[in-house]
Amino acid sequence: MKIDLTQFCATIDTRKHLFAPFRLNGFIYATDGAIAIRVPDDGSNVANCESGLEKIERFFQMPENILFQQIPILNIPLKCAECSGSGFVNYEHVDCDECDGEGEFQHGSHDYDCKECNGSGEYRSVTLGAKNECDKCDGSGNVSIQPVAIGNTFLNRKYLVKMNNLPNCTVATNGKIERSFFKFDGGSGVIMPCRG
Ligand SMILES: [Zn+2]
Ligand SMILES: [Zn+2]
Repeated sequence: MKIDLTQFCATIDTRKHLFAPFRLNGFIYATDGAIAIRVPDDGSNVANCESGLEKIERFFQMPENILFQQIPILNIPLKCAECSGSGFVNYEHVDCDECDGEGEFQHGSHDYDCKECNGSGEYRSVTLGAKNECDKCDGSGNVSIQPVAIGNTFLNRKYLVKMNNLPNCTVATNGKIERSFFKFDGGSGVIMPCRG
């Protein structure tokens, strides 16, 4: 079974190198900064690891005698209130004309919030029937951060769903602050605890 690594890459991040899988010392990695997964290098057409990101190897070093367990059955996800669970909204964010999207004005040595946009720098332009991806949930329709108690930590539900789709995935938790480890047929991964 070929694992789709791109589902573990970042979609919104300032670090562009997290947007696609990459190759390093016999493995192909994918990460979004909160979860990372690796599979043996099968010669796939991916970029080489960017310099500075090699430290990812260290994160995969597991403590000894760590216990792997099944992922618990997940409850129904909480729906995103912003889009009522649809993943779409009928507005777009548009820069405020009054303050050119700055949200504030400078006058002498003082800053003043723009009254037009209440200092946000933008307003919502509604188009009836429009289907724009909801920012709050990245279009998933579910609350983005849903901590699930597992072992001695909390992991974010959206990652557990992806892990569950990996063949025979089991997880070894490692406390509330430390990363947890997971393994599956054909690879392994690490995941940071969820700060809800
Ligand atoms: Zn404004
Ligand atoms: Zn939403």
